[in-house]
Amino acid sequence: MELMGNRNVLVGVIGAVAVVCVGAGVFSVTRVVSPPRAPEAVEPSYEFLCEKCQAVFSLRQSQIPSEVYEAITTARPAAMDCPRCGAHSSAYPPTRCPKCGKPYISNFSKGIIPQPGSRQREVCPHCGTDPYIWHRQHVKPEV
Ligand SMILES: [Zn+2]
Ligand SMILES: [Zn+2]
Repeated sequence: MELMGNRNVLVGVIGAVAVVCVGAGVFSVTRVVSPPRAPEAVEPSYEFLCEKCQAVFSLRQSQIPSEVYEAITTARPAAMDCPRCGAHSSAYPPTRCPKCGKPYISNFSKGIIPQPGSRQREVCPHCGTDPYIWHRQHVKPEV
């Protein structure tokens, strides 16, 4: 009986050691297997259009000055210095024409809100489409 007891203790010790070894092994394997963090892969990019030279370029969040990024996320006018022609604060996140798909800088891009009741409407400089009318005709019928 006393012998059985000792054997059980011994088995218990071996078992505990085995569990610790397996645990450490799993831990080190997971550390090796888990992929390295790749922030570039998940970082969204933002498109800009230069008002001066019409260059379209996209920048990742880390490449955008923090005050410009903050302006984008809070729907305020976000102007970047153009990396192509060097013009100061001339590149804005553009509006895309719903008809021809070309980007242009609208008043909305610049954060200019038309006066209430203003009849003046912006149109796409490429094809002359008024995005408001286009959406009314193509997306949802007038209520
Ligand atoms: Zn430019
Ligand atoms: Zn257009």
